Amino acid sequence: MADAVSHDAVSVIRAKRDRGELSDAQIDWVVAAYTAGEVADEQMSALAMAILLNGMTRRETARWTEAMIRSGERLDLSGALDRPTVDKHSTGGVGDKITLPLAPLVAACGAAVPQLSGRGLGHTGGTLDKLESIPGWRAQLTTAELLDVLRSAGCAICAAGEGLAPADRRLYALRDVTGTVESIPLIASSIMSKKIAEGASALVLDVKCGSGAFMKDLASARELAAAMVELGTDAGVRTRALITAMDAPLGRTAGNALEVREAVEVLAGGGPADVVELTLALAREMLDAAGLGDRDPADALASGAAMDHWRRMITAQGGDPDAPLPVARERHTLTADRAGVVTGLDAYAVGVAAWRLGAGRARKEDPVQSAAGIELHARPGDPVTPGTPLLTLHTDTPDRFPAALEALSDAYALSAPGAPYERAELVLDRLA
Ligand code: URA
Repeated sequence: MADAVSHDAVSVIRAKRDRGELSDAQIDWVVAAYTAGEVADEQMSALAMAILLNGMTRRETARWTEAMIRSGERLDLSGALDRPTVDKHSTGGVGDKITLPLAPLVAACGAAVPQLSGRGLGHTGGTLDKLESIPGWRAQLTTAELLDVLRSAGCAICAAGEGLAPADRRLYALRDVTGTVESIPLIASSIMSKKIAEGASALVLDVKCGSGAFMKDLASARELAAAMVELGTDAGVRTRALITAMDAPLGRTAGNALEVREAVEVLAGGGPADVVELTLALAREMLDAAGLGDRDPADALASGAAMDHWRRMITAQGGDPDAPLPVARERHTLTADRAGVVTGLDAYAVGVAAWRLGAGRARKEDPVQSAAGIELHARPGDPVTPGTPLLTLHTDTPDRFPAALEALSDAYALSAPGAPYERAELVLDRLA
């Protein structure tokens, strides 16, 4: 390996442990050597912890991102398509099914949307797990198939190939088990290395903020958004970010098939107001970033054009958009025990409960239950009386109910009956 003589893992770890700045050569070496298996997992864990505790400068983060991109292949889809390409990434939230209506909506407005997505781990669901509840639909596409689906439907949602940023794949799995996920430079470089390697020419980031998100407060969400916008812009990708609230789940469902059903309601012109609002806000940003700012996504939703693109995309990826979605074998409804107005619904608690019901996985090789999840009947702002249904748990394995109910024990906050309720803003900030 180039430069192998002049670097060793222990000196790089010590430099960061002692609050030093890593040189470009040290970063290039350690990322390449880790990918090649020449730096051990325990050494990379120590370095990740030193980075989590002591941070990285803008230069270090940019170089780390470049090194992760260089560890694999880079796609260039825009040359093969006659429309501008634009991509969206969400940092992950509970009930976040926005990609499902958003990709066909933006395609209906004239852009090409190659949406390379992942599976869920922990309390947030993955877009691919949701779509796999549609009978026949497949996530795995070759690059040639991806281009065919983009040409016929304008959008495709598929699994990112193993060859994109393999250094991140290894490092992310390591961070997940060493308590080092929550580092802003490591999150920013992880997300942006994959997005830049995918060859997006424009990118809109949905940075979630609140109890159900990685970033719990606005200051850290802004810091993450700014770091990612800088990385994208420096790499020649037109990048914007919206910071959006994730204190309560989005919409009225969390779980795979349940979320697909809600996304289809939005495409049919209905659906919960917050899901529609965020879908349109992100669509406007994506169209603007793609140079199509004169198109109005609300028209494409109302006319049924977005639904048409959804049906084409699902069909082109082997799915049947008319097939019934799986339904859970068992349900359990939780009701209010007193009167009041719902003032809070903890997104994290709902995410953990949906996960415990079988909607998510504990290890990346675990299967998920397509029909498991939670349907929310009462949301912030809704009045309730004793016996009003708050939420329904869905699962195929009812022995999971007690653990899910335990996660939900403090999920709802109620104020006195008739108390005024002020709806919180959904879009908290915008960075470009
Ligand atoms: N998503 C990623 O892809 N990487 C992170 O580090 C966090 C969320």
